[in-house]
Amino acid sequence: MNPVEELNNLREEALRELAGAEELKVLESLRVAFLGKKGKLTTILKSIGKLPQDERKETGALSNKIKKELEACIKEKSSTLKASSLEMKMADERMDITLPQHGSVTGAAHPVNSVLIEICEIFISMGFSMAEGPEVDFEKYNFEMLNFPEDHPARDMQDTFYINNELLLRAHTSTVQIRTMLVQPPPVAIIASGKVYRKDADQTHSPMFHQIEGLMVDRAVTFKDLRGIVRILLDNIFHKDIPIRFRPSFFPFTEPSAEVDIGCTVCNGAGCKMCKDSGWLEIMGCGMVDPNVFDSVGIDPLRFTGLAFGMGVERIAMLKYRIPDIRMLFTNNMRFNLQFRGLR
Ligand SMILES: [Zn+2]
Repeated sequence: MNPVEELNNLREEALRELAGAEELKVLESLRVAFLGKKGKLTTILKSIGKLPQDERKETGALSNKIKKELEACIKEKSSTLKASSLEMKMADERMDITLPQHGSVTGAAHPVNSVLIEICEIFISMGFSMAEGPEVDFEKYNFEMLNFPEDHPARDMQDTFYINNELLLRAHTSTVQIRTMLVQPPPVAIIASGKVYRKDADQTHSPMFHQIEGLMVDRAVTFKDLRGIVRILLDNIFHKDIPIRFRPSFFPFTEPSAEVDIGCTVCNGAGCKMCKDSGWLEIMGCGMVDPNVFDSVGIDPLRFTGLAFGMGVERIAMLKYRIPDIRMLFTNNMRFNLQFRGLR
């Protein structure tokens, strides 16, 4: 085969392969194969010097012509492939800004928090201030100074979580009454809320629950004041003139003591499973501060009287929102929790 024929064959081969290249990588390897230092065309160009004089000129000119043609072809193909790969990338990353967005989810106050905040607001509007105490507290603040006798069953290890002989997880927020009266002389009007702990667990009891309670100490505080405060509280929580009754009861730290019932929120007094057919639901405990408690904190019971009341926040949330099982309040099921969205 003479060199001209060889060159023409090479040209055709190169053009055919370049036309079929679909990727920049393939294009580059073709450039190396034909035009690289050891490429097919370069090899021919190098051998031109060995040709007879008369063939040299024609072959040399043809070689250069083919080289330029191939270079131009590679350049054009390269820019076409670059443009199409950019287009593909852009199509891949395209974002349709006309698509509707996913709905955003707003949170909700937990029913326990919702009721707690509501009760605090009612008392703050009546002039009470907030008081706090630790969840791990002294046994004496939890029992002894609140007039619990030595042999009171609540002091039993089976009912209360003891840390050691002196410390326990408070069984009620009444520890805050003692802590407040020890440092603040009357008049006192406080509410205290927070977690309390008892060894108790079933459909209506949880080993940890929330209490909120109040204490008012001043000259001539009477049971009539207590009744008035309870009426304002329950009317505000249940948003109506709800039936209320006071039942005589007993607590070590109040004398006299009473439990407060409200007309059943489910059957309105007709009798149902919730109220065990009585038409009434227990809602809170209250009473006049026992003189022994005043003695233990150094307040003169002949000069001052006081009222105290307390309630379980979960119980109020359950009665208000008709929640049948206290455990529903602690499982953090979002489908349950989100039902209370918008209450506050
Ligand atoms: Zn009922």
